Amino acid sequence: MVKAKFLCGWMCFVLAAPLLIPGVIHADEIEDKKESIKERDKEIQRLEKEKAMTEKERKTMFARLEEEKRKLAERNEEVYRLEQELERSKKKLKLKQDQIRERKRLFDGRLRHIYQQGDMFYLESLLDAGSLEEFINRLRYIRLLAERDRELLQQFRKDLSDLKAEQSHYKQLLADQKKQADQARSLHRELTRKYKEYEKELDHLAEKQNHLEQINEKEQEAIRKLIRREQQEKRGQKKSYKGGRFYPPVQGSVTSSYGMRWHPTQGKYKMHTGVDFGSSLGTPIRAAAGGEVIASRPSTGYGYIVVIDHGSGLSTLYAHMYAQDVKVDVGDTVSKGQVIAAVGNNGWSTGPHLHFEVLKNGEPTDPMPYLK
Ligand SMILES: [Zn+2]
Repeated sequence: MVKAKFLCGWMCFVLAAPLLIPGVIHADEIEDKKESIKERDKEIQRLEKEKAMTEKERKTMFARLEEEKRKLAERNEEVYRLEQELERSKKKLKLKQDQIRERKRLFDGRLRHIYQQGDMFYLESLLDAGSLEEFINRLRYIRLLAERDRELLQQFRKDLSDLKAEQSHYKQLLADQKKQADQARSLHRELTRKYKEYEKELDHLAEKQNHLEQINEKEQEAIRKLIRREQQEKRGQKKSYKGGRFYPPVQGSVTSSYGMRWHPTQGKYKMHTGVDFGSSLGTPIRAAAGGEVIASRPSTGYGYIVVIDHGSGLSTLYAHMYAQDVKVDVGDTVSKGQVIAAVGNNGWSTGPHLHFEVLKNGEPTDPMPYLK
């Protein structure tokens, strides 16, 4: 029943225009005001559509923005990971370089030692050797040592060049990733800018709409004043309302009561000037009390309306009907409980219901006390 709560739609608030009881004295002035209210209502409706479209675009943009944000995070993670890898590779390279330096130092030292001592080194080795066999062994040992140093050095050099290749590979990857992260960042910036534009546009549209609604509300108040004056001028000419409980205008449950209610799309409280009765299409609508039909016509937002004057400044309004279901005309006298129309879903209405108002001197008042 959540939907039913807003059966009447938000237009109910801005459309007091149909409450008018067309009289003789101020009829032209009232008609003029009604016309301009109708025009503004059209503009309000157009703005509502534009807002819905902009909102849709904003949502699409938001989804893209989220997607880009996710990609950007991935890129940044990848950059971080590669930076770590590069750092590890640099440490490995440094270690290898140190090892090579150390090995070279040892190697050079050994060579220098051999060189400085010249033939003496071999001679001494030879002289020290207890036998020819030992001498040959020593010589072989010295050669092996030199051979091994050379091999080690070669291996280190190879490791070094591998590490350098690995490093330049990481550096290349890192540069690529940083470039992609930069691109993602600037795309994200651009999308954020566009997103903000949509938000601004939405604010702007809502502002325009509010402005028009405010004008309409003021105009409605002016119309009510005219009606009040008219009724005061006509006082005494008509029969008076004899009081007593109203006849229930329709069989159905209250889906939205009279008073301030939360406006879901505007995000603020607004006045609901009547009571909504949820009921199925075609359910008979009955006159709440006897009186004279003073309005029976189409009305923007309210579909087709009927207003009955019960005398003593009291009148009732029935809205959202279809023209073909309305059985009374202006000037008709109706009795309490008489079927005057059937429940419709006409105008700004999101489900079949009767919007019922009680007007006291043209001013909406809570209908419930009259129905209890
Ligand atoms: Zn309503």
